[in-house]
Amino acid sequence: MAHRTATHPARAGRQPAAFPAEALPYLSLPDPAALTADQTAGRACIWGGRPIPADAAVDLGEHLHDGVLTFPQSCGPCIATRAQNALAAHSFDCATCRDRARWTDCTVGYGLLRAQRQGSRVGQGGCR
Ligand SMILES: [Zn+2]
Ligand SMILES: [Zn+2]
Repeated sequence: MAHRTATHPARAGRQPAAFPAEALPYLSLPDPAALTADQTAGRACIWGGRPIPADAAVDLGEHLHDGVLTFPQSCGPCIATRAQNALAAHSFDCATCRDRARWTDCTVGYGLLRAQRQGSRVGQGGCR
């Protein structure tokens, strides 16, 4: 078996720098095939599709999908709303989240809450 040094190694997706990655699977990112070039490049909100001001973008990391690397970003209002809805749906069935003494132990619930806060913190603009 020869090493296939001529081919580029598959790039694993980069984890978001600041965004809680554990929340991502619960946010239902749109199908990359349905996105515009601006959305896959992170210039437009992955949900609302509006251009995002540089100081109001929430970086969702890099995602490899069918060999295509995308760089999804969200505006603040979209990610805050998505995270809030996902948190409500998740915590309904999660005993850890509903226990006020240890709700931060739930990586999903706590991750979604931090995602919501991050979205609320960044500037307005984008889709709303
Ligand atoms: Zn948006
Ligand atoms: Zn939970």
